[in-house]
Amino acid sequence: MKNYDIIIVGAGASGLTAGICAARNGSNVLILEKLSKPGKKITVTGNGKCNILSNREDVESIVHGRDKELACKIFRSIPFETLLRFFESIGIFIHEKNGYYYPVSLQASTVRDTLVTVALATGCDITCDCDVTDITERDGGFVINNMFSCKKLIMSAGGCSRPDLGTDGSSFRLLKKFGVGITKLYPSLVGLATDFKQSKVIDGVRHYADVHLMVDGTEVFFENGEIIFNKKGISGIPIMNCSGIAAQALDEGKKVSVRVAVLSQRDREVMMKSIWERLIEGGYNIEELLTGIANRKLVYAAMLHLHIDPELRPSVDDGFKIAGHVIDMLCGLTLHVTGTMGFENSQVTSGGVRLDEVNPATLEHKRLKGLYITGEALDADFACGGNNLTFAWITGLRAGTYSAGGTIDSDIFY
Ligand SMILES: Cc1cc2nc3c(=O)[nH]c(=O)nc-3n(C[C@H](O)[C@H](O)[C@H](O)COP(=O)(O)OP(=O)(O)OC[C@H]3O[C@@H](n4cnc5c(N)ncnc54)[C@H](O)[C@@H]3O)c2cc1C
Repeated sequence: MKNYDIIIVGAGASGLTAGICAARNGSNVLILEKLSKPGKKITVTGNGKCNILSNREDVESIVHGRDKELACKIFRSIPFETLLRFFESIGIFIHEKNGYYYPVSLQASTVRDTLVTVALATGCDITCDCDVTDITERDGGFVINNMFSCKKLIMSAGGCSRPDLGTDGSSFRLLKKFGVGITKLYPSLVGLATDFKQSKVIDGVRHYADVHLMVDGTEVFFENGEIIFNKKGISGIPIMNCSGIAAQALDEGKKVSVRVAVLSQRDREVMMKSIWERLIEGGYNIEELLTGIANRKLVYAAMLHLHIDPELRPSVDDGFKIAGHVIDMLCGLTLHVTGTMGFENSQVTSGGVRLDEVNPATLEHKRLKGLYITGEALDADFACGGNNLTFAWITGLRAGTYSAGGTIDSDIFY
């Protein structure tokens, strides 16, 4: 049996970071990865460009989890400049555009390749095609798959989202055996399924909209941004950002809907005035009056939904009323949410190992000494925008450094 100081389960964002930090602090490290290559998920982040970091001040408004305060504290525990310096120290340089941070290369694959190269150069062993299925405690350390042993174990095996990228919830299956507390798990940053009858008509339509998430009739979330309709429902950043809340509410048996306003009340006033003038002018059918107020397919779907004949040539009063109904619908289309698009399509997992069970500075489990947990396996997830990777880098950096006996300069936790 081969023995290491530290074994890391999962060569993803937090696992590779932990490996580099532990090796730089003098430990001999093995990283075990179930897929045939390390860091596969990193290569698909940010649509292949990797939205690598976030420097958000208002983390409180974008965090999900049982202990939001502690999650925010960990998120802020390593200053942004320190994270930039870490990336510079491994050869990844970062640019900002409109408040979003990407590697200068704009290629997520360069982030993965660099992390792997540095992990190997600093002395980590990386074994791929190794699915960790068994962990036992032995002689004050851990034995993995009856093949490797270590004094310290870092679980960096992610959540349940995107099993095709290696993350199928095995972190939780393995940790449950040790009695580790794991909260309920939900897919997050995922599209929502709706029962809108005209979904096929608007499949593929993208539009800027105000999105209000309603739970049992109360608004619990609002965001403006680009939404994308598809055959089964709706997606886009504002939808993804409220999907974790929707998933949890549905699981609790609550009624969930999204109110989508592709037109504002101000648009309504201008449009109704124009419609009135053209009705007076005469010669227009309903479709002709409404073409141009929003995406053509959306307008058509609204007419279908309201049983309006697009070719109708109404009187001025009737036309004004009918056009008003269509515009009202586009000012507040209520879509009943029937579910999410599932872990297979979600970018992150909401829920995980309870934060109050780990030391927030080191990420070591308070009861199970020598066991560290990082990244998405922890009960903390965030809105889109580089936040989830930031949490992965921070927790990886902390667990890797402290498990190897290193220190972090002016650490806020000490
Ligand atoms: C399509 C997509 C786009 C995203 N884009 C962004 C973005 O631009 N910015 C951002 O901040 N976040 C983004 N995210 C989220 C971000 O990628 C994750 O939150 C982050 O990678 C989590 O890091 P982690 O180290 O916890 O786990 P992961 O990076 O998921 O790594 C876990 C690793 O563990 C391995 N593993 C799992 N089980 C085992 C086992 N039993 N044995 C051995 N190995 C195992 C997996 O194969 C995987 O390699 C995106 C996610 C997806 C799916």
